Amino acid sequence: MKKTDIRSLNLKELKSFMETLGEKAFRAKQIYQWLHEKCVSSFDEMTNISEKLRTQLKETCTLTMLKSVTVQTSRIDGTKKYLFELEDGNMVESVLMRYKHGNSVCISSQVGCRMGCKFCASTLDGLVRGLTPAEMLEQIYRISKETGERVSNVVVMGTGEPLDNFDNLVKFIQMLTDENGLNISQRNITVSTCGIVPKMKELADLKLQITLALSLHASNQEKRKELMPVANAFDIHETIDACRYYFEQTGRRISFEYSLVAGVNDSAQDAAELAALVKGMNCHLNLIPVNPIKERDYVQPDMKAVRDFQNKREKCGINVTIRREMGRDIDGACGQLRKRFSER
Ligand code: SAH
Repeated sequence: MKKTDIRSLNLKELKSFMETLGEKAFRAKQIYQWLHEKCVSSFDEMTNISEKLRTQLKETCTLTMLKSVTVQTSRIDGTKKYLFELEDGNMVESVLMRYKHGNSVCISSQVGCRMGCKFCASTLDGLVRGLTPAEMLEQIYRISKETGERVSNVVVMGTGEPLDNFDNLVKFIQMLTDENGLNISQRNITVSTCGIVPKMKELADLKLQITLALSLHASNQEKRKELMPVANAFDIHETIDACRYYFEQTGRRISFEYSLVAGVNDSAQDAAELAALVKGMNCHLNLIPVNPIKERDYVQPDMKAVRDFQNKREKCGINVTIRREMGRDIDGACGQLRKRFSER
């Protein structure tokens, strides 16, 4: 019989599972707390659970645990980048960023990615598989355990397209925000998508209070298609409409991600088109000077061009920030660490 992935069960599912083992439902809450609040790495740590039940759990369940393979710490800003090994030998990376307002962890949602964005290292070898809810949660649990520090913000901006792993993502969010687990507020969770329109609408209909970030990266359909193959499936206006719909359903301001590539999408005309595209929207614009990867020859605009772009947008009343590059010295860009490791 296939073993149950116990760390991927939400509280309701864990209750029914306990009943199938002939146990009282209240045990489920205790076990859930061990798995998701104390983040244990073995059944034997569950000291208020009888030895008989612990043995039963060992026989019927797997306990997802990530193994830390390498940790790199940035000398510039203390950002830590983790490479974790999954049970099947695949690798994923996660990043801990320390801000004044608290610790933020950036997690991966898939092993590899099939979206094909031109500047992104995560997609170079395609998709291997989506991560389970437990594997997404474990990235946060291991980092929190290792540092002994509370994680207050989670961004799903590592390797993978979260909306291409939709059901597991939604369950992950539900479990991460459960009061018997880490109890992280929905408002402190950001999910970044390249723009899979039907899934954006499905997410909107769930009316979660999470922030949706859209990777825009261009201000017209032609340029977006050059950088992001997903634009062949969904027109830029359709994608922006899905963002408006998300705001209508949830009241949450959309965050646009725009990676600036010198000579590609950083001109005054690009800035003007961008303003027209998002006109009237309650949104935030995050400018990211592209992080060059060795497989492509994209280069960053100089800082003056970035500032000009920002100023033009601010004049139109759009809220703009330039993303502080954290951990640049430690393969900060998505997928670079995993790729380098697998090449070694
Ligand atoms: N698949 C999701 C989340 C993963 S990528 C998405 O597309 O949004 C997180 C963000 O980093 C995205 O905005 C992505 O386009 C951007 N990104 C990836 N590689 C980059 C690079 N080399 N330089 C700058 N931004 C990059």
